[in-house]
Amino acid sequence: MTPTWGQPYHLRDAARRLLDLILPPRALDDRPGARGPVQSAGMSPAAWSRISFIAAPFCDGCGAPFEFDLGPGSLCVACQARRPAFDHARAACLYDEHARDLILQLKHADRTDLAGLFARWLARAAADILPELDLIVPVPLHPLRLLHRRYNQAAEIARPLARMSRLAYRPEVLIRRRATRSQAGKSGDARRRNVAGVFASPPRHKTALKDARILLVDDVLTTGATVEGCARALKAAGAARVDVAVIARVKELTARPI
Ligand SMILES: [Zn+2]
Repeated sequence: MTPTWGQPYHLRDAARRLLDLILPPRALDDRPGARGPVQSAGMSPAAWSRISFIAAPFCDGCGAPFEFDLGPGSLCVACQARRPAFDHARAACLYDEHARDLILQLKHADRTDLAGLFARWLARAAADILPELDLIVPVPLHPLRLLHRRYNQAAEIARPLARMSRLAYRPEVLIRRRATRSQAGKSGDARRRNVAGVFASPPRHKTALKDARILLVDDVLTTGATVEGCARALKAAGAARVDVAVIARVKELTARPI
């Protein structure tokens, strides 16, 4: 399916875009049970200004930002050489030291209040693909790691995102069968080996996944190995399309073989 290029990308004024993020359109907050205003996340204007938000143009496959607009549906060189196992990826910002600091707060400092903020970032970053999707699924943590960390940061973002976008939140359709070693410092190939066969969909969800169009949510996209592992498992279970939305991505998925 050819993705439609959403209106938000046509707001040319960067200041206006930033304002929309600080004070998002009221509609996002009108859902029953939605979290409070964005400011509750307690980010200072200086912290905002350091985040490198990604706006169009970008690769329609992996979401890598482009220097020039190559037209709707354009793919980067890496995606032309090898399409990822997922269909489209969108990222709210570039993964740099500033984004990393924020994400680590969500991950390790119990700043779950940041989750609602990140969900709004993802709603905006994936605005062009969200209307074409049915379900939202977070990248699962292994139960032992969940016990240790007490919450899954991807799920914390996916839940409010599902509410905002009126999509079904279905974390149970994807499980992590074993804990994986840290992906840090591994190449794309090593990461792919590390996650091979790790993700699966329990057979009882086959009906729910048949022809489903899914948005997979994670915090960071580096080589794409984890979300590709998830996408393969969901498609093997019958999903028609698996897209990805993350808070932050590296500029280029350089470790990917092409
Ligand atoms: Zn690409």
